[in-house]
Amino acid sequence: MQIGLYIHIPFCVSKCPYCDFNSVDGADQATMGRYLDALCAEVDALSQLPAVRDRAISTVFVGGGTPTIYGGDALGRLLEAGRQSLSIDPGAEITVEANPGTVSQEKLCRLRDAGYNRLSIGVQSLQARILERLGRKHSVEQGIAAVQNARVAGFENINVDMIHSVPGQSVKEWCEDLRQVVSLVPQHVSAYSLTIEAETQFGKWSRGGSLTAVAEETDAIMFEKTHCVLTEHGYQHYEISNYAVAGRECRHNLLYWNNEDWLAVGAGAHQHLDGERRWNVKSPDKYTTDIETKRDAVEGSERVSLSQRMGETMMLGLRKAQGVSMRDFGDRFGNYPMEVFRKEIDRLSLSGLVAVSEDRLALTPKGFRLANIAMMEFIN
Ligand code: SF4
Repeated sequence: MQIGLYIHIPFCVSKCPYCDFNSVDGADQATMGRYLDALCAEVDALSQLPAVRDRAISTVFVGGGTPTIYGGDALGRLLEAGRQSLSIDPGAEITVEANPGTVSQEKLCRLRDAGYNRLSIGVQSLQARILERLGRKHSVEQGIAAVQNARVAGFENINVDMIHSVPGQSVKEWCEDLRQVVSLVPQHVSAYSLTIEAETQFGKWSRGGSLTAVAEETDAIMFEKTHCVLTEHGYQHYEISNYAVAGRECRHNLLYWNNEDWLAVGAGAHQHLDGERRWNVKSPDKYTTDIETKRDAVEGSERVSLSQRMGETMMLGLRKAQGVSMRDFGDRFGNYPMEVFRKEIDRLSLSGLVAVSEDRLALTPKGFRLANIAMMEFIN
């Protein structure tokens, strides 16, 4: 069975005010160097796990934070550590996330040479006003150059991350963003609706009244515009916020949405392996010290019960446009969704949020807009 590997880099040039990822700014070179050594050591330790020994890694995803805050050689060394310790499939999808302000042409070439074959670029907006509102430190020009330079460096699988429903953003501005994104012809576009999280600076500003979230109706219009523009330009809508040209869906994220297994290393990283969830300490400093002193930085773990696994498989699977295959679910768990979740499915069908067609249960267009409500049915 395939398995993925997630590697977390928690460092950023500066902390964006809307960000609730596990990321910190201001780390010095020595701290980052020790952290990289710790990651390599944790990757090496993974090879000792019996559940990993005979399995090939089909996807690697180096995410953050801002992985490209490191130089190309350091990121090359990290991937090499993975190759030395684990069996990485020759056809593996190997993604690194990049921030436009941190990628020179030379670094992109080095990353491609090192074996990274998918680049996910956090462009977020192609409007200077919106980038400023988001607190991003890169310019529109750097966003465009990052995509173009990645192509020159030999990347044939490029994702552009975009954000809509930014406070103060108009539908017209978002449509202009979409128009510019398709003109860059990436193979994949992630278009996320901004959520204002309580613990972020945006959350504080929102509570203090200096920031107003975009109205729900405006958010819904932006979601629909995204669908219209991207599908008109040949992208397939394959997950709530994700679009790809045929064959360029993110294989690593599909592992998550199919509720399959993945290994995870780094501060705060969550792993899911053979029915067990395990997570590392969140603080990058504590993570590094723990790895240096005791070779693991695990903060906690739990067995995932069969009923939890079934519920999570439904919840995550519904994120995909294809939804959940009844047959695959039955083969995996010995019971079909209709046997386990008939009440929930009937309720959602009556509300028009899901539809059953042949083998599949999937969200309807209305369900996509109210996906959180639909998905929660399966995990309570
Ligand atoms: S660059 Fe990304 S991870 Fe870093 S602070 Fe900004 S949003 Fe968060």
